[in-house]
Amino acid sequence: MDRANVLIAGGGIIGSCLAWALAEHGVDDVVVVDLDLAGVYASSELNAGGARATWWQPVNIETCLATLEFFRENLDEFGFKEKGYLWLYSDEALFSRAKKKRELQNSYSLGVEVLQRAEIFERFPILDRGLEEILGATFSPRDGLVNPNAVRSWYRKKAEEKGVVFLNRHYIAGVVTDRVTGSAGSIRRVAALDVSEVQPGDPYDESGVIREILTTHRVPPQRFVEESRIACDTVVNCLGAWSPVFSAKIGVSDVTEPVRRQISLVGVQARDGSHDTELSDIGMIVDSSDLYFHAEGGHILAGYSNPTEAPGFDFTYDGESFFEESIWPRLAHRSSSFERCGHLRGWAGLYAVTPDRSGIAGTVDGFSNLFEAHSFTGRGVMQSYGVGRAMAQLLARGEFGDVDLRALSRRRFKDEAQWVMEDLHI
Ligand SMILES: Cc1cc2nc3c(=O)[nH]c(=O)nc-3n(C[C@H](O)[C@H](O)[C@H](O)COP(=O)(O)OP(=O)(O)OC[C@H]3O[C@@H](n4cnc5c(N)ncnc54)[C@H](O)[C@@H]3O)c2cc1C
Repeated sequence: MDRANVLIAGGGIIGSCLAWALAEHGVDDVVVVDLDLAGVYASSELNAGGARATWWQPVNIETCLATLEFFRENLDEFGFKEKGYLWLYSDEALFSRAKKKRELQNSYSLGVEVLQRAEIFERFPILDRGLEEILGATFSPRDGLVNPNAVRSWYRKKAEEKGVVFLNRHYIAGVVTDRVTGSAGSIRRVAALDVSEVQPGDPYDESGVIREILTTHRVPPQRFVEESRIACDTVVNCLGAWSPVFSAKIGVSDVTEPVRRQISLVGVQARDGSHDTELSDIGMIVDSSDLYFHAEGGHILAGYSNPTEAPGFDFTYDGESFFEESIWPRLAHRSSSFERCGHLRGWAGLYAVTPDRSGIAGTVDGFSNLFEAHSFTGRGVMQSYGVGRAMAQLLARGEFGDVDLRALSRRRFKDEAQWVMEDLHI
């Protein structure tokens, strides 16, 4: 493979959806390059499967709404379970903001309810502990859970059927541009272009062009590494938490930080000795302690995002100690049914975190043929279809269609008033 019309860097759920959506638009010669399509380093393979449209910012609601609608159309294939999100609050200010945001959410027909403390136990009797500290809850019945691997596989399969090529085990090591000011080995770099130089609303600077993407890959059965150069007309950075590494290669400084997030799979023994979690009729529960959990094949999948976690490319799962310190106390504090729960296993993946906890999508100032769609924090699965379709429309037609992602341009970070701030974030 030595040339591509559109080269998508990263074949996670976003890159895969975009590839399919571009092919649907009739765009030819789409090539997706990934160092490991099995997803060992991809957030798409390591997440919690939550899917909700109940966000606080229209662009996030709209992309999730489009995606959830698509999940509903393919309910069985994607294992989508519309069982709702129950969110418990013990913080007065947060609860009050959540109640205010309900108006916006329900203008999209999301049917979000506010529950008083007594109603919580009535409707969800499994939550029988510590309710005295809970001020109330919101319940959003149209949200739910999905099988992210099934969704990602579907995007990829449909893209391949339409002629998209996925290059596996190809590591993007360098970028050749025509704005050369120096050289570093075989990788030429452009003059450093800092996002801080660009004002929101500035005209789009088209002076840079990416000519080639340089990849390295192992050639089996030998162990030596081969280099290849792929000439490309258009490039899209869909590298998730790895996106700043790519941006750095072309002199663009990124605001995204990779942050480790851990999840435990928990075994629960009910009082009668059975292993029923009693959670199968509820979707995601987000506790006031920031623990989130849901039923997962007879067990519980429970995650907790340590607020003091330092940024870094860390995939270490802390195992028992994470379960004992972060998961078990919170589960047992909320329900007597979870008292006898035990650690089964778990994993760690990366959130791509931005200052306002919203993704980055659109064009990249300084380059006429570079686009990006990445950094969807804890939301990439539930935004995948909305973002993939919108980006394909931008690339194929030159402007956004029904779903407008302009609010997610990286330019917003120049002016805090334009941030797309999300508070209810797990
Ligand atoms: C613990 C956890 C829980 C989460 N829970 C949810 C949830 O409930 N709901 C939800 O919607 N989202 C959730 N997320 C977030 C979601 O998983 C991500 O937002 C989404 O998967 C991002 O997809 P992506 O395609 O942008 O990135 P990724 O899936 O990370 O894909 C990036 C790809 O780039 C490739 N790559 C990286 N560097 C290179 C290189 N130099 N050369 C070639 N290829 C490269 C990687 O191999 C990878 O395949 C969660 C994430 C985590 C970690």
